[in-house]
Amino acid sequence: MHQGALQREILRVAVIVGAGLAAGWSIEYPLYGLLVGLVISQIFSIKNADTLFRWSYRSGPAPHDSGLVGYAADRIQRRENQLKGRIVQQATQIQRINQGIESLVDGVVILNNEGYIANFNAAAIKMLRLQKGDRGQHIKNFIRVPQFVRYFDAADFTEPLQFELRHLSLQIQLTESGTDQKIVLIRDVTERKRVETMRQNFIADVSHELRTPLTVINGYLEMLSEAELPSAVQKAIGHMDSQSRRMTAIVNDLIELSKLESASSERGGQWFDIAHMCNEVIDSLQNFQYSKADSGDASDKQNHIRLQSTNNAEVEGFPDEMRSVLTNLITNALKYGQDSEVIVELTFSLKGLRVSVKDKGIGIPQDHISRITERFYRVDESRESDIGGSGLGLAIVKHALEHHDSALIIESTVGVGSTFSFVIPAFRARKIH
Ligand code: ADP
Repeated sequence: MHQGALQREILRVAVIVGAGLAAGWSIEYPLYGLLVGLVISQIFSIKNADTLFRWSYRSGPAPHDSGLVGYAADRIQRRENQLKGRIVQQATQIQRINQGIESLVDGVVILNNEGYIANFNAAAIKMLRLQKGDRGQHIKNFIRVPQFVRYFDAADFTEPLQFELRHLSLQIQLTESGTDQKIVLIRDVTERKRVETMRQNFIADVSHELRTPLTVINGYLEMLSEAELPSAVQKAIGHMDSQSRRMTAIVNDLIELSKLESASSERGGQWFDIAHMCNEVIDSLQNFQYSKADSGDASDKQNHIRLQSTNNAEVEGFPDEMRSVLTNLITNALKYGQDSEVIVELTFSLKGLRVSVKDKGIGIPQDHISRITERFYRVDESRESDIGGSGLGLAIVKHALEHHDSALIIESTVGVGSTFSFVIPAFRARKIH
């Protein structure tokens, strides 16, 4: 086609110039004739170029020319039509995506890289009380909950975040999309939280109800264990006594766990001296005995627990919960530490205050490590029912640490020992002199 247009263009120039030449020849001025032919041909070209120019500004019709200009105009027209088609298609697609996002039950907020709101859907308007004119504002102006502010500033969005906002329980997942955009997905989990609270309350109520009958049973068993009875009966009473105490421990731990689970995430903590607390817990556990088997000769047994700390440290949080964490971890180190020395260590780093409890005991097989913070999970059921314990200790630790924006780290090698540690983030820990 291009070839044809080029030929027609050349033919037209040749015909006009040829006609001029012939006319000039006939009056014996061939050169004038040639010149006139060239000028006429040039006028044609200029006129075509002018039409093309006007058309490109939409101020005139497309050039109807069989030569190169006409051909080029035709190609441009076709390409424009194709582009228009594609733009319409993409606009329809964008509209569909927007409609989809708009109709989601979950809230969606699109932020720029710094956290300023670019767009949001109807669900987000309801959950965060946004208004159309709030585009361009920072997301932290709408979610002022300290947990969210910290989550956003830390820029670690691997885990979702759950918090309460004006009677709603919201779960937020932030995703970085590309290099200059963040997408916030907000789920209303109020109903799920309500059911969860009902479950927690039920467990707490049952545990409370069990406490009184258990106290009575324990009392009678204690009384009977002191009475003069045939040895077989005494042995049975001994068994009943240890099982009943175990049940009491489970009930007490269940109550503690329920309290931790239902504690509000918005309560403020207080600063306390953690080294002092470690010493208190260590002192209280120096004579701790764990198994029935030991109790015969262990009354004068001393545990070896040592605190290593270069700085005095204060932590902002909940003293009762932290005491429970330390007690559970040190108790476990004693229970599973095979009489090895237990070292409690406090070390500061850029991330915050690391607290670790180390024993040189039996250790934990690798495939169990990820599960031992689950409720009632035990590595070796038969061995550990001997040692005693509720199976809830580490679940309590996990929950209490969450309230301190921290998590349990478990390092262990079978036969070598275990280290249970956690880092209290820098904003919750400080050195004291
Ligand atoms: P328990 O009351 O049974 O000790 P925990 O929740 O405190 O329950 O611990 C769960 C399980 O983790 C224990 O049964 C034990 O198998 C394992 N475990 C915890 N601490 C240690 C430790 N220091 N060394 C070896 N195993 C441990």
